[in-house]
Amino acid sequence: MSQEYDLVILGGGTGGYVAAIRASQLGLKTAIVEKSKLGGTCLHKGCIPSKALLRSAEVYATAKRGSEFGVNINSVSLDFTKVQERKNSIINQLHKGIQYLMKQGKIDVYHGFGRILGPSIFSPMPGTISVEMENGEENEMLIPKNVIIATGSQPRTLPNLMIDGKYVLSSDDALELEELPKSVIIVGGGVIGIEWASMLSDFGVEVTVLEYSDRLVPTEDHDISKELQRLLKKKGLKIVTKAKVLPETIEKTDRHVTISAEVKGIEQAYTAEKILVAVGRSANIENIGLQNTQIIVENGCIQVNPYCQTKESHIYAIGDCIGGLQLAHVASHEGIIAVEHIAGNTPDPLDDTLVPACIYSQPEIASVGYTEVQATEKGYELKIGKFPFRAIGKALVFGQVDGFVKIVADKETDDILGVHMIGPHVTDLISEAGLARVLNATPWEIANTIHPHPTLSEVMAEAALAVDGKAIHA
Ligand code: NAD
Repeated sequence: MSQEYDLVILGGGTGGYVAAIRASQLGLKTAIVEKSKLGGTCLHKGCIPSKALLRSAEVYATAKRGSEFGVNINSVSLDFTKVQERKNSIINQLHKGIQYLMKQGKIDVYHGFGRILGPSIFSPMPGTISVEMENGEENEMLIPKNVIIATGSQPRTLPNLMIDGKYVLSSDDALELEELPKSVIIVGGGVIGIEWASMLSDFGVEVTVLEYSDRLVPTEDHDISKELQRLLKKKGLKIVTKAKVLPETIEKTDRHVTISAEVKGIEQAYTAEKILVAVGRSANIENIGLQNTQIIVENGCIQVNPYCQTKESHIYAIGDCIGGLQLAHVASHEGIIAVEHIAGNTPDPLDDTLVPACIYSQPEIASVGYTEVQATEKGYELKIGKFPFRAIGKALVFGQVDGFVKIVADKETDDILGVHMIGPHVTDLISEAGLARVLNATPWEIANTIHPHPTLSEVMAEAALAVDGKAIHA
């Protein structure tokens, strides 16, 4: 069977399905090819399930602190089966929501594995999509005017450190644990590593983090890494930086796994029930037919121009498969840029310095724009405002006083170059900083925006005042 479309999207994750909805709004006849479930990594193996587990861990940890709030809870216990059921029901509800949106937008969904064909009897240009249907039905042939590749990414591991799903887990495996281990070694102290470290520790698991770099979350501002390390250590986690993991030393026994790492030149052995590997994700570009096109792949990622166009001008690529910031909100934004461009409009290209990044650990971390080091390297003369949550009334009310907001501004123009946050609910508070960056606001403008009292948002106004040494509650 063959069908013609204005647009076929390979992959129905956050990037792909959002692109499909915008395409349908613009009147394009659109189809999605999805090999697994609509919603992709974000809904089924990433953002949503991990945040659902993190929330259960937070509730559990808070319940144990109940007496601090005058709420005596005699015996707090964890029902991990229920935790997993809650996570799964959230996923199911959102999955149904996406299926409804596809029907509403009259977007055809093909459940199967899609491959890009080269020039063929169907089209003189590469881009016809052959779909190997998952239910064993006859292959479908889709003939689109345009294609968007939105195939996402998958967890990667270190050379010689094989993920076996039993002793050595990827983040995909960890999400499906039926019971919690007593102890875990996490290889990688980046975004995934830290979210899992925080969650497992709040669930009562003994956690050791082995991070190769000299600090946790190395892409964040140095002050954030330092505060994170301090707070995680306070929670009882073991943090080892400058740790070069030696995969060949791995030993598995009945219930435990041991692995060594070279730390400051000395080999140290670490033992736990499981190892969780969180050292990044690699683009899903295998077997999708790229060899039938002129599309360029570099460092394992599809190369695109600012409008997400590949070397084949009618084939676009968005999201994790093009590298850069591997974030769901980046993928969906790129999807919209690509579709608007296909429709003949002139969307603004994505500016990485306007993209907020969030880590949903306890404490939460969020940032947008340049770190202090990046801004200095770019040649800016800086003024910096920093304000602690400890001096914010609502933080005391919440019983979460650790952390701060740091604003990096340009001394000459007063522009805000970056905002870095660690502490309660900063993954929500960062949107104000994002808007400030988009509107090119100055610290003065943030400070003069009236922030309701008592709210955590007051920390932004105070940090903005602190840029010019005028914080009120300092
Ligand atoms: P990452 O790049 O954030 O972190 C990987 C960490 O592993 C780095 O700190 C790196 O220094 C360390 N590392 C690399 N090799 C190592 C080794 N041999 N031994 C020890 N440490 C080593 O990657 P990730 O945490 O796997 O996340 C993958 C992607 O998914 C990222 O782009 C991330 O932004 C995205 N993601 C985002 C969210 C979110 O937005 N909250 C959540 C999960 C994942």
